[in-house]
Amino acid sequence: MNLNILIDNLPKTSFITIRKFKSLNINTYFDLLNYFPFRYENYSLISPINKLQPGETTTVIGTISDVKYQVTRTGLRIQVFKLEDGTGEVELGFYNQPYILRLIKKDMTLSVSGTVEKYGKKLVIKPKEYEIGGKKIHTGRIVPIYSEKRGLSSKTIREKIFYVLQNVMVRQAHHDTFVTLSLTKGDEILPNEIISFNNLIDEQKAYQQIHFPDSKEAAQKAKDRLAFDELFMIQLSSYLVKNEWKKEKVGYKFTIGNRHANSLQQFINNLPFKLTYAQKRVWNEIRSDLLKTVPMNRFLQGEVGSGKTVVAALACYLAYLNGFQSLLMAPTEILAQQHFKTITDLFKIPRLAEFTLSEIEGLARDDRGGNLKIALITGSQKKFNFQSPSSKPVFNHQQLFSNFDIVIGTHSLISKKFKMDKVGLVIVDEQHRFGVSQRAALKEKGFNPHLLTMTATPIPRTVALTLYGELDISVIDEMPVGRLPVKTYFVNKAKRSSCYQWIKSQISNFQSQIFIVCPLIEESEIETMKSLKAAKKEFINLKNIFSDFKLGLLHGKMKAKEKEEIMTAFKNKHLDILVTTPVVEVGVDIPNATIMLIEGSERFGLAQLHQLRGRVGRSDKQSYCFLFSEKEDLGILKKLDFFTKTNDGNKLAEEDLKIRGPGDIYGIKQHGYLGLKIASLSDYKLIEKTKKAVEYFISHYKVENYPILLERIDKERSGKIAKD
Ligand code: ADP
Ligand code: MG
Repeated sequence: MNLNILIDNLPKTSFITIRKFKSLNINTYFDLLNYFPFRYENYSLISPINKLQPGETTTVIGTISDVKYQVTRTGLRIQVFKLEDGTGEVELGFYNQPYILRLIKKDMTLSVSGTVEKYGKKLVIKPKEYEIGGKKIHTGRIVPIYSEKRGLSSKTIREKIFYVLQNVMVRQAHHDTFVTLSLTKGDEILPNEIISFNNLIDEQKAYQQIHFPDSKEAAQKAKDRLAFDELFMIQLSSYLVKNEWKKEKVGYKFTIGNRHANSLQQFINNLPFKLTYAQKRVWNEIRSDLLKTVPMNRFLQGEVGSGKTVVAALACYLAYLNGFQSLLMAPTEILAQQHFKTITDLFKIPRLAEFTLSEIEGLARDDRGGNLKIALITGSQKKFNFQSPSSKPVFNHQQLFSNFDIVIGTHSLISKKFKMDKVGLVIVDEQHRFGVSQRAALKEKGFNPHLLTMTATPIPRTVALTLYGELDISVIDEMPVGRLPVKTYFVNKAKRSSCYQWIKSQISNFQSQIFIVCPLIEESEIETMKSLKAAKKEFINLKNIFSDFKLGLLHGKMKAKEKEEIMTAFKNKHLDILVTTPVVEVGVDIPNATIMLIEGSERFGLAQLHQLRGRVGRSDKQSYCFLFSEKEDLGILKKLDFFTKTNDGNKLAEEDLKIRGPGDIYGIKQHGYLGLKIASLSDYKLIEKTKKAVEYFISHYKVENYPILLERIDKERSGKIAKD
């Protein structure tokens, strides 16, 4: 018996249910055990019927003595059962659940958990859970409540997990077969020393108690153990990756002599601005990495607008000076396009963008001298695509691309099967949308380049160190001079129309451009139809309000080309107002846009609001951010007030962590890059504790002797890959 058994083997489980589980990435029994409840209901009190008290939540076990079906005058259908247990009789009232008459019949033994209510003199139980044949899984105990996704009920999930815990774990103990992902006693994943030093309960017990706890305290202890394991494994995994990484060698070694140093300096001198101190510091860190034989694996964090691109360009330039190519990947086409524009501008070279296949062949043939050449490739630009539709062999296209020094695109750059011959550097922007799998894919391409990942997502340092322990971290913590902080205001309902009025005057008098972000309908990376509908409705509404102005709508369901057209129109000032769904591209750079209006701002996390606000304030003009809110209760007002007063992304991220937990920091939940199941990243104490435990483990034990631990780490990693 092992826990890698596929859930297809669950007895009495419909194909549809199994498919639903799979859509949640639950494929094995072990996955199922790792679907943790988010709360519990305490139904452990079992009362004799004659002792029932109105208002209490309890479990009653008895025999069905009568079944009635009633329709009230208002049309409500009630299914009433009489239950007796020898001490008395009580009524159970189900509302509008006629199917229940097929399940529960006279003379059956039934266990019911619910609340006791008093109608006149009569006591009635309003059932919350019931099971036929007496208490076992859903009643008469502390019952786990699971989040119901993809149409899976908490009850179904509970039943399946119960089965796995009862059967697999018990049977394991009797079987002598090799057990992978073992949960059997005596087969702990961690050394006993670490378990006892950290006061942990054993793992098998933890899995049982997290789902079906004997008490609140037991559930907490189970959680402590599993959270410990989770953070322990993440950090051990990082350590192992970093260790392996250190043994690697770059495919192409960079050098920097006087000549290259001069060229770099000249590039810096020719920039239209002075690098900030932070940019210089970070560039030094990157430059020293680039000169090593161990490939760089660096994480560059910097607020929106802090100027990461120019640092990236410097790195590309050093690669170019050494005769190597750089790959720059952005999460979306708009961003890839924007990078292309920014970088070609920085290098002051004409854009050779958006070629057709024949054009690029022409390019490849002509001699373009020794200049740096930049290409943009995007997946949807049918104009140029490596695999299709041309009948030409891929090989030719590869040859074409070896003519470029910097290739910019989306992740289609690596998903397409092409190779560049001399890739020395890979830069990934907004890394939370990229994952382990893409990184692995790069290596599979046969080169071992330096790797720089960039993000504007404010991640508290502790969190970054925990999650990205294998990366070196650089932070641009300073904004270019001359940037005025965005003035941020909360606008209550009464002031909305005067706010609109003010915006109109700004457009008329100063040609200001405005972003209006529609409320977040559902938190999901992929824009849903529901969100789109809401946005379209809002768009019509806004068109009426701003009837004298030009408005455009940008949403996630648009084709890349349409998106680009809208963005270009906005950038070229053909539009005054851009209405967008919250999926508005993270790094969009429209320096002339100075007003950001956020509808339903209460629905966003602080870090996310900050990202949106970062779309404005990108020039020396004063910018404004207005927060509209549907609800105006105290908590919301407090949160939004904090936001209006705080311009520091990291402070906002820390606050988010406090208010909502780490899962809600912008981007993290949607993109699943935390992937934490049970531990909390705001639990700094546990992070510290597990970090020490990992250090101790590494210095006192041999990892090879802990195959189950390694297997779990592998599984965790491949799970992440599957999600990417
Ligand atoms: P991000 O870090 O969000 O990617 P960008 O690299 O897009 O930021 O830079 C935002 C804007 O700031 C760009 O228009 C860029 O040219 C400009 N910029 C970058 N560095 C500086 C600087 N040191 N001084 C002034 N402007 C700068
Ligand atoms: Mg950027």
